[in-house]
Parts: sequence; C-alpha cells; structure tokens
Amino acid sequence: MGKNDTLLQAFEWYLPDDSQHWNKLKVLAPSFSNLGVTMVWLPPAYKGAGGVHDVGYGVYDLYDLGEFDQKGTIPTKYGTKQEYLDAIDALQKENISVLADIVLNQKMGGDTEETIDVIKIDSNNRNEEIGGDCQITAWTKFTFPNRHGKYSTFIWNASHFDGIDWDEKKKQSAIYLIEGKNWDTNVDDEHGNYDYLMGCDIDFKNEEVLQEFNCWGKWYLDTTGINGMRLDAVKHIDNQFFKNWLPDMRAYKGENFFAVGEYWNGDLGKLQEYLVDASDCMSLFDVPLHYQLLNASDTNGNFDMRELFQGTLVENDPWHAVTFVDNHDTEPGQSLESFVLSWFKPLAYTIILLRRDGLPCVFYGDLYGIPAKDIPAVAELPTLMKIRELYAYGEQHDYFDDSDIIGWTRSGIDEFAGSGLAVVLSNRIGGSKRMYIGTSHAGKEFKDILGYSSNTVMIDEEGCGEFSCTDGSVSVWLEKTLEVKVSLD
Ligand code: CA
Repeated sequence: MGKNDTLLQAFEWYLPDDSQHWNKLKVLAPSFSNLGVTMVWLPPAYKGAGGVHDVGYGVYDLYDLGEFDQKGTIPTKYGTKQEYLDAIDALQKENISVLADIVLNQKMGGDTEETIDVIKIDSNNRNEEIGGDCQITAWTKFTFPNRHGKYSTFIWNASHFDGIDWDEKKKQSAIYLIEGKNWDTNVDDEHGNYDYLMGCDIDFKNEEVLQEFNCWGKWYLDTTGINGMRLDAVKHIDNQFFKNWLPDMRAYKGENFFAVGEYWNGDLGKLQEYLVDASDCMSLFDVPLHYQLLNASDTNGNFDMRELFQGTLVENDPWHAVTFVDNHDTEPGQSLESFVLSWFKPLAYTIILLRRDGLPCVFYGDLYGIPAKDIPAVAELPTLMKIRELYAYGEQHDYFDDSDIIGWTRSGIDEFAGSGLAVVLSNRIGGSKRMYIGTSHAGKEFKDILGYSSNTVMIDEEGCGEFSCTDGSVSVWLEKTLEVKVSLD
C-alpha cells in the first residue's frame, strides 16, 4: 500500500487582500510535501464581484482567473492567472494533487440591469409566494466587456437564472423568483426549498447553462491541469447536475479524478440521501463529525466520548467521508461559525489524522493561525501530520469504553519502519487504559511523542501496554527511539 493521503485546505477567510497567496503557496509547496500533504484544496481562482477583496465565492467571471481588468483589478485576492498556474505547477512537482474550488451555484456583480417580472418569495418558506407579480430592475446581465469574448462569448441574462435578491429600482432586498421559472427541486429541503442561496441563482434546468458549464469545465481542465475538485454549495444545486457533469469531465480528462462536495448539513441522513441521488459521484465533507468535535469541545467535559462517531459519515460510509475540524466558513465571524475550541484542537486533529478511516482535511487557519482574529496555530498539528504520514498504519483496535477517556492503537506494517502507535485522549480528567498494539511490539518501550505524559510504556508479551493521557489532553505513543522532525518553512 502507498502512504496515507492528507488533504490541506490551503486558505482561510481572512488572508490579506494582497494578491500574494499563489506566490506564497508556490514557495510553501516543498514544506507541504514534508508535512505529508498529498492533496491541496485551493480557493476559488475566478474574479469575484468584490474584485481583489472577494474570497472567491461571489463569482463574477468563471473565465477570469486574474487575467482581465474587471471589477477594478487584474489579479484576484490571491494573484494573477500566471501565478495560479505556477502555484499548481509547484505543488504538482512535489507530487501533490491540486483540487480546484468549483463554484457554480450563483453569480454576482452583473454588468447590466434588466427589467424583469418576478414573484416575491417568503424567505422562510421558499415554496410560498408573497404578494403578486411585480417588476424589478435586476443585475442579471453579464457581458464581461473587458474580456472581449476571449475563451467564450457566452452572455448571461435573466433567462439563465431562477432567482435574485436585489431590486435596483426600489433598492429593496428580498428573494425574487423570476417569472416563468421554478426553483430546482432536487435540492435540500431546508426553508421548504434551498435552491436559492445568494446572488443570481443559476437555473440548472436551462439547456444553454448546461452546455456552457460543459464547455467551461473542459476549458478549466485544459487551462489549469488541476487533479480534482472541491464542489461548493452542492445542496443548493440540482442533485442530478454533478451526477452527469462529473463523469463528463472525468471522461474528458481521461481520469477518474477525486471530487468532494460541500453539503452543509449535520444530519447524516441528508448526506447519505444526496450520495444515493448523485450516484456516489463524489465524496462529502463529514459535517456531522465537525459538529461532534465542536460539541466535545464546548460542553465542559459533559460530552460522552464513546458516542464521538455516532451519526457521522466516516463511521457509516468511510469511503465517501472527508473529515475536517474547521474551515473558512466555520471561522469566527463567518456564515457557519462553529469553531472548535482551541484546547480541543490537538485532540480533534488526532482523531481525524491518526485513525484508519476517512480522508482528513487540515485547515490552513489551524496550521498557520488566523492573525486577523488573533488565533494562534495549533502547535501540535505539524507533528500529528508527520505521524500520519510515517506511523499511522496497520490494524486499528478501538477502546471507546469510557465517557471521558478513549483510545485506540494502530499495529503498524512492515513497509513503514517504526509504524504503529497508541492514542489516549480525554475531554475531562486524564487516566490510562491497557490496550493491545500487537505482539510484534512486545518488549519495546513507547513514549508520548507530544510530551504531555512523561513516563514510558513497556509492551508486554501479550502485545499490550498501559497507555495514559493527562487532563483534557491527548498523548500519542510511538516507539521510544523515534523522533518526529517537522518544520513549517
Ligand atoms: Ca441554486
């Protein structure tokens, strides 16, 4: 078998608007590789309505990767098109797969107003009309005057959208369904129908749209050479779209490339339903696990650690689970704010990085800190990533037998010298438990590589040892002779 995969989300919300991030990632590529990162998720690379300040989700022009003078800038928040391509190249040279952030649900920052007939919709129940038909002025026409038709001559107008949330004439904000349109139905049913998220909501029933996304996807693959995709806001997009589009893109690239969707829902049933409807064409972020980690962190030790994986995707469908602790949306001040408390972060990362199941996604804001919010980096994280790469192999034995203290072991495998480890962690008081790590380790001494437990553990003839952790902490036990050297530079 090959080494463990680790995905890195290579951005956080509050990066400076200095157009230097692609350059920075290019420089960091070798250090990512040294940390055991095998896949990187880059932020959306297209020009957003907010120009250089746009994090990338307010998509204006999917064909402008920092190449045209649009929205007041040539580069995006992260840099120019060439710098993006150079960063991808540098990452791939380190054998790191690059995932592009694919944002297709909405568009923002239209070039021209159109006068359109609409129906006002109740924002709490999107199937409910309020008031009769009315006419509004909407920014629904996208002509991209400064791109001059390069790469595509497609012009977006109101016929390509289902809804909009701004009437320019009355300066009024509401959810407006465009006359003659229906919301896409194969979407999440929160608010009755969660097709509409923001901006100009794209109509995935429109043939011209489907054709345009087919052309654009191929252009994007040709232009960037990316190795996979992170799909934004899939619960707001007809679940039949990616089921058709992804196989087309994979056939075009000639590779069954990896894709992970953001279906933001803490209910495992919803995620499973989506995977069935989408014919398992992608993995999903394990949102239920994120909320379990959050609950374990902010309940003063009252969370029952035996139930940590209850209702999570990684427990029920590990092959489609991308596990994560936090992301750019869960950061303080963001739309899905639910940031796992700092004391628990080393425990949470141990949980996603050192177990057998799931593809773990490390958050840039945890690896480097979030200076804009005075949030420090998770000091143990580089070490845990390196341990995943080198030592987290072999059979897994679980000891989820106490409401506070849980543990597991990995037996190790021959291909990775020195592999095999034991983990004990507690969300309340510390303690120890006798765990089986394998008879191949009999007679060897183990130490806590994180250094929170200062004793050593001798593995007995039965292949067991008495491993411990301290209060509200985690200990990761490796063979005593091993050193784990990491550097963030
Ligand atoms: Ca939608």
